[in-house]
Formats: sequence, structure tokens, C-alpha cells
Amino acid sequence: VKVEIITIGDELLDGTRVDTNTAYLGSRLAALGAEIVRATTVPDSAEAVRDAIERALEAADLVVVTGGLGPTADDRTKEVAARLQGRRLVLDEEILARVREHFEGRGARMPEVNVAQAMIPEGARAIENRVGTAPGLVLEHGDGLLVLLPGVPSEMKPMVDGYLVPFLEGRGLRRTWEERLLRTTGLAESEIAERIGPVVKRLARTDVAYLPATTGVDLRITARGGTRKEAAKAADRALDVIAAKLDPYVYARGGESLEEVVAYLLVMARRSVAVAESCTGGRLGWLLTRVPGSSEYFAGGVVAYSNDLKRRLLGVRAATLKTAGAVSQEVAIEMARGVRAKARADYGVAITGIAGPGGGSPEKPVGLVYVAVHWDGGELSVEHRFGGGRDGVRERAAQAALELLRRVLLGIADD
Ligand code: ATP
Ligand code: MG
Repeated sequence: VKVEIITIGDELLDGTRVDTNTAYLGSRLAALGAEIVRATTVPDSAEAVRDAIERALEAADLVVVTGGLGPTADDRTKEVAARLQGRRLVLDEEILARVREHFEGRGARMPEVNVAQAMIPEGARAIENRVGTAPGLVLEHGDGLLVLLPGVPSEMKPMVDGYLVPFLEGRGLRRTWEERLLRTTGLAESEIAERIGPVVKRLARTDVAYLPATTGVDLRITARGGTRKEAAKAADRALDVIAAKLDPYVYARGGESLEEVVAYLLVMARRSVAVAESCTGGRLGWLLTRVPGSSEYFAGGVVAYSNDLKRRLLGVRAATLKTAGAVSQEVAIEMARGVRAKARADYGVAITGIAGPGGGSPEKPVGLVYVAVHWDGGELSVEHRFGGGRDGVRERAAQAALELLRRVLLGIADD
């Protein structure tokens, strides 16, 4: 199948906005095995849009257009397409009801101009817009297809994934690749490469992409096969082989965040957690409460920045602060123990460290962080030396505390 992509917008041509729709459509359609023969960007002029669509319909079996579906006067795509095909624009009551609902659901009245969004070329099929108001449209054109999508990327993407791709698959275009995601924390990209390099080399028709972030490295595994089923098998096998090499640094096979994984483990074990934070200023509590339903396992937290508060609220001993210093293994553990007791939680987690840029010394440099977990019958703490500036250190410290808790919950913290 030959595909041409047309994107519309003055702002795409004058550099105000980068055209991301072409890249998105190109990657999705190419993955289905379609041949992208051309991508064109035209200004918001009815003439330019008409010329582009007309030319594309001659060259391609499938023409996908984004932009110009809005309710305002400069949005002419539908009108142009209808005229080109000799179709009338007719009012679609179902779409009108949905557009009206979109406004009324937010307590607003629908502006009259939005009625235009319910006008569609006769015989067109509408693709529901769950994010905005303009529906996408599918128009048959001889043996070919003309698909009109909104310009707003967040509206266009779900239509491509939820409608266009399955629709094309139904027409015999098949995806023959599968993707898997593996999420790790605590290993640098180079360390991962060293561990998995040899096995990845032996995997046929499989690519591994490194997606590094401050808090860890994600690996995207893409496997191709003769069929999608074959590809899925190959992808799962690759996932197992790679994950085995990275144990215990893999916290998720799939898209879950570390806080979601920890939340799941706590809920399954019916355990609660409380946190005591110094240099992260509440980030750990924020992460743990990002997950819906967090009241089930999160008792609360204390941001104890000063030594005084560490003593008074968490019961850290003055002697420990004096001999070991606020940033030390000992204080981290006493903070974890203290908050656990105060909150009557099953697990206490603590962080103390030097985020910088000031406050470091030769013995205790910027980036030195101690995380600790205390529970009934045990305590553990780990020393880290993080880079990445103040924000980087704080993000990594919170992630490391979560990771230690994950390992404690799984009973693999001593590995
Ligand atoms: P609306 O209902 O919002 O008017 P529309 O279908 O008419 O939607 P446009 O008006 O062309 O779409 O664009 C809406 C928004 O989406 C603008 O902010 C525009 O810059 C952005 N946009 C449009 N096309 C692209 C593209 N190809 N890549 C990235 N952003 C785009
Ligand atoms: Mg518009």
C-alpha cells in the first residue's frame, strides 16, 4: 500500500511549530508495512490543500491529512475534500450531540461555530474524537482512501492507534513486529550494554534501544517476524534473556513506574509505609502518593531538614548527629526507624544526603546520599554517590529509596 501524508498549517512552514504528525503517522504506517511515498506540508489555504490532496490521490492508495478540521474559517479541509469528490456537506446529528456534550460536560455552552464540526461529507465515516471536538473522517476514493485527522497531536494519535491502524489491519495490512519495555534503575547505560551486549548480538531480527533517563534506563525491545504472533514470541524470548542478565535491576516488564510497582507490592502484602526525607524535600512522599489508591499503604511522611526536627520528630539521637553527621548511614537508619514508630507503619523509609551545589566536603561530597529502610525485624541502608546537579541528585535519591524498598519487599535486598 502506498501512502502519502499531508500536513496543513502556516505554523509548520514558518517554523513556529515543528511537524510531529508526519513522523508519528510515518512510523505507525511504516510499521504496518505500508510504503510512505511522500509527505507534504501545505499552508492553511484552501487552494494549496486542494492541490495537495488531488495530487496525492493520484499517486497513493491511502492519503492521510492532518489539520484544518477545526470550527474556524481557516479550517477548510473538509470542505475542500467534499468539493473534490463532488459530495455535499451534511449535518451528522450524532456528532453534533457529542460535540455539544463535550462543552456541556464542562459546564459550558457550545459556541454556534462548533455546529460546523458536525458537518461531514456525505457518505463519510467519522472517527470519534475522545480528546477534543473535531471528529476524524474516512472517505472512500475509488479503490483508495482519504483520511482526514485533526492537527492537534494529542487528538490525532489516539485516532491513529485506536482506529486507523486496526482499520488498515482489517484491510490486510498487518503489523509483523512487537515491542516490549524493560525498566531498570541503578545501572548506567554502559554497564547495561556490557551485561547484555553478547546476548543481544545473538538475537535474530531483534533490536534493543536504550532510553536513558535521570532515574534509570529503559530498554525497548523490538522483534520482527513473519507474522505478529512469531514476532510476539521472539519479543518475549528476548525479554526473558535480557531481563535475566540485568537481575535484580529490572523493576518492571512493561510501562509501570517504580512507584506503581512498589504500591502494588505493598497492597498485595497489606503493608503500610511512612517516609522521612531530608534532601529530597518530600519527593518520595509525592511519588508514593502519585499512584491512585495510595491511602491504602501510605501512612504519611516527614520532611525533616534541620537536625532539630530530625531529633524532635523522628527521635534521631543528638549523639548520632554529632558523631556520624546528619548525612550518614546511622542517621538514615534512625530516621527510618523513627518515622516508622511515629506512624505505626510496617516500613519506614528515609533519605538523607547532600544535593548541592554547596555543602559538600572532601569526606562528604555533593551527591552523597544514604537511603534506609526499617521494618519489623530488620533494617538496611545503602550509600550512593549521585551526579546530575541538585535536581538530578534529588530525583535519583528518591528513586533509590523506592528501589531499596522494592527489594526489601521482594526479599532480594541482599543480592
Ligand atoms: P482545531 O480544532 O484545534 O482547530 P485542527 O484540526 O483545525 O484543530 P489545526 O488548527 O491545524 O488543527 O492545528 C491545531 C493545533 O495542532 C495547532 O496548535 C497546531 O500547531 C498543531 N498542529 C497541527 N498540525 C501539526 C503537526 N503536523 N505537527 C505538530 N503540531 C501540529
Ligand atoms: Mg484549526
